[in-house]
Amino acid sequence: MSLQSSLIDKIQKLKREKRAIILAHNYQRPEVQDIADFVGDSLELSLYAMQTDARTIVFCGVNFMAETAVILNPDKKVLIPDINALCPMASMLPADLMKLYRRKYPKAKIVLYINSLAEAKAYSDAICTSANATEVVDQIDSEVVLFGPDINLARYVQMKSSKKIIPIPQYGFCPVHKLFSKREVLRLKQIYPDAEVMAHPECDPEVWEVADFIGSTSKMYARTLTSRANKFIVATEIGILHRLKKGRNDATFIPAYEEAICVNMRLHTLEKVYLCLKDEKYEVKIPEKIVAKGREPIEFMFKIQKYKK
Ligand code: SF4
Repeated sequence: MSLQSSLIDKIQKLKREKRAIILAHNYQRPEVQDIADFVGDSLELSLYAMQTDARTIVFCGVNFMAETAVILNPDKKVLIPDINALCPMASMLPADLMKLYRRKYPKAKIVLYINSLAEAKAYSDAICTSANATEVVDQIDSEVVLFGPDINLARYVQMKSSKKIIPIPQYGFCPVHKLFSKREVLRLKQIYPDAEVMAHPECDPEVWEVADFIGSTSKMYARTLTSRANKFIVATEIGILHRLKKGRNDATFIPAYEEAICVNMRLHTLEKVYLCLKDEKYEVKIPEKIVAKGREPIEFMFKIQKYKK
């Protein structure tokens, strides 16, 4: 038996014994995705966590995702295999900056991307994902909206909404999505002229210009299941390719940049997942006050989604 299959057996055994589930983000290593009970984007993972009756959730994603799972499931134990899995973009907007923006723009409302720290969410009026950002902004009761931490998503919303959008911080960005360029996409398009180009809204606007489809990782997945194309150039973290290939094994997926890797996401390994279950570490804990205040803006988003149905 290989080391990997023995680890997988041990993980499965511990999962049963502890009534635990493993959730993995679309950007996780392939072997971590394969061991997970559910793979998805940050919101889907939190919603899945709300529906499970498992007592323990092993969250293979970055800090803000595990924090969101805690906010939505305060009665469950949320563990993260590597405590250093932090999102640099979320860290660009700490609570102190939120307080400063509140003071600077007392009449404006604040909408935060779900990719934000729990301490920042607690000072916001609404949370959104890349899939519903414009709808959330349009529904909030203010013509001036502070939006963060991703300036590109703020620009994307500004393109679609008539409201005035002020990015907070001024230049928040995802270092991984900064790696994509229009020039490289066009070069790949010359090699694969019949390929459909899919780009994440966290990419720079020059990349959207040459994309056939702009959307979150889950929207990309859904798109490939219905698209007639059988080649896709994908401008997001390359971990998603594993899930895309599983959904469409007849199609070819070409990364728009081969080294677009989120090192923070990749910190979780099978061995760390095993140790996390065995030793029940690291538990993600958030002060009760932040859990309560952070839940309100997330519920605002849920209300909009429900209204839509
Ligand atoms: S891909 Fe970007 S936004 Fe996502 S976790 Fe990594 S650094 Fe953060």
